[in-house]
Amino acid sequence: MVKIVDKNNKTLYQCEECSFGYEEQSWAEKCEAWCKEHQSCNIEITSHGIPPKWKEI
Ligand SMILES: [Zn+2]
Repeated sequence: MVKIVDKNNKTLYQCEECSFGYEEQSWAEKCEAWCKEHQSCNIEITSHGIPPKWKEI
């Protein structure tokens, strides 16, 4: 399930598999579907997102 998180008053959708954050829910869902099936990330998808370390910034 894609997780909805708040980041500086902006809503981000987070892939629960790889923790990448996305501004669009559709990308987060694509990412999660890919991560679950392939047990890895698709660079074409993650390039639309924010790396997991965004949480610490
Ligand atoms: Zn993912």
